[in-house]
Amino acid sequence: MPLACDTLVRCGLLLTQDDERTAIADAGLALAGGLVLAVGPYAAVAAAHAPAGMLDLSGCLVLPGLVNTHGHAPMTLLRGLADDKPLMPWLEEDIWPIEGRLTPEHMELGMALACAEMLRTGTTCFCDMYVWQDRNLRAVEHAGIRAVLGEGIFEFPTSSYSTIDQAFARAEALLTALQGHPLVRGCVALHALYTSSPATQARSMDLAERFDAPWTVHLAETSQETATVLTGCGARPVPCAAARGLLRPRTLAAHCVDLDPGDIRLLAESGCGVTHQPSSNFKLASGFAPVPALLDAGVRVSLGTDGAASNNGLNLFGEMRACALAHKAVARDATAIPAQAVLDMATRHGADNLGWPELGRLAPGSAADLAALDLAAPNLQPLYNPVSHVAYAATGHEVRLTMVAGKVVYRDGAFPGFDYPGLLAEVAEAARWIREQAGAAKNP
Ligand SMILES: [Zn+2]
Repeated sequence: MPLACDTLVRCGLLLTQDDERTAIADAGLALAGGLVLAVGPYAAVAAAHAPAGMLDLSGCLVLPGLVNTHGHAPMTLLRGLADDKPLMPWLEEDIWPIEGRLTPEHMELGMALACAEMLRTGTTCFCDMYVWQDRNLRAVEHAGIRAVLGEGIFEFPTSSYSTIDQAFARAEALLTALQGHPLVRGCVALHALYTSSPATQARSMDLAERFDAPWTVHLAETSQETATVLTGCGARPVPCAAARGLLRPRTLAAHCVDLDPGDIRLLAESGCGVTHQPSSNFKLASGFAPVPALLDAGVRVSLGTDGAASNNGLNLFGEMRACALAHKAVARDATAIPAQAVLDMATRHGADNLGWPELGRLAPGSAADLAALDLAAPNLQPLYNPVSHVAYAATGHEVRLTMVAGKVVYRDGAFPGFDYPGLLAEVAEAARWIREQAGAAKNP
């Protein structure tokens, strides 16, 4: 008796990213209840299942939806507003003044644009630190994308709170509201050691423990941060975090650029994850995270885009390529960070770093989250090695279809979850206001 399922997908070529990294030509995927029921050669999967619907991706390279483990999605509205400056002057002179004036409506709009960009380029789950995340959640829900959202915790006032107690109240309310949510989970997102007191740091980790949620922080992003933390804490950022009990398996440390060998040992011993944002680090000239050394030490490293103001995009295909190329150049070793390693970082390692191991692979029991790349694109021909194409040849704009939990959320230029032309009109209107506010006459 064939087994009932919701959808039978026919894939021209499937990269499962399962434990064996199985690739299958002319593959079948049986999906039921938002999960993968069976994977295998198409003929075998088709013979064993009675699907309610069919999805023909026979001209496509299908892979698990990508997992973006660090960003500030609503910053899409600030894309290209100010560039070509180091991190602290860029934040203090350009970003923080205008960010402080953005309304919750702006945040939600920026989030909607971010979700569209991520789905358009094959990302199906992202981890996000920002303010007004209760509002931003609405855009995430309309888009139908998965997310791990945390209200950013700073010691100083933001547009969404005036005191640290209010910050924690908002962070906890979000975690509570997201319990049992089908697609969105909560995390605790402390901005950085240098923007919070030891008491706030400990309180934020207690909150993460109480909700059994990921705890994420910007850590060792620049040498300037190292100098600031050395002065305040008497130790470099990583040992400072370790001494304060902040390096735990639930910890996801973003950037980790300015590391010494002792820092790398501490990160590995703690079992925490690291999220690497190559484009943001390069653009802000923060330096090169020692990713090959982190991987050699056994640290789980995943990929993130950071915000669109410092990247300037949310496209993980660009991050895979940047990561693989940069570390080869830095190490003067073409074997550093091979194609399969960056694909792992953008899929299953990202899922593991978010404590969500059902994502980032397509195997029985995993989430039915996938991206399909058009194999007829000239830059994907000929095809000898699909992993090589994903890491080095694809741009992300070959994505024809993106699926989350068994539902098509992007297909051939259209987003079934929301009105994209309407969104563009709202973005143009918001950009006019931002340009005025930022006094961008100097930069017409
Ligand atoms: Zn960041």
